Amino acid sequence: MQNIPSRFDSMLRKLREMGYRITPQRLAILKILAESKGHPGAEDIYALVKTDFPTTTIATVYKTLAVLKSIGEVLELEFSGDYNRYDGKKPDSHPHLICIKCKRIVDPDLTSLDEMAAKLASQTGYKLISHRLDFYGICPECQQKG
Ligand code: ZN
Ligand code: MN
Repeated sequence: MQNIPSRFDSMLRKLREMGYRITPQRLAILKILAESKGHPGAEDIYALVKTDFPTTTIATVYKTLAVLKSIGEVLELEFSGDYNRYDGKKPDSHPHLICIKCKRIVDPDLTSLDEMAAKLASQTGYKLISHRLDFYGICPECQQKG
């Protein structure tokens, strides 16, 4: 079970270990990533950080995201034709459920995935490293709007 302090602490500890400078802006970015369930994009994070730290630049956000990605502390979801989204709560590979209308992204609870991965590994002899599994649909709220 992951909770907010442990994700924040883990990101912060790793950045410190790697010798990265910890600025108040960077702490704010870590906090947003550790707490957000919504898979924010860089611009979303930038808008939030800017309210407390008006001098923050989008470059700082991108740089911090790149660093966190390189040390495995954030999961980057890339989309062709749309901006990337980030998951700092769950940095390891996991499936996503994406609304094509409002672009909401949620983490579905798929218990059958472990079984599927084990089967795939044994059938192919591959040692699995990661996966990318996206489901696209229209969320209940968007369905109601018609
Ligand atoms: Zn939607
Ligand atoms: Mn996720």
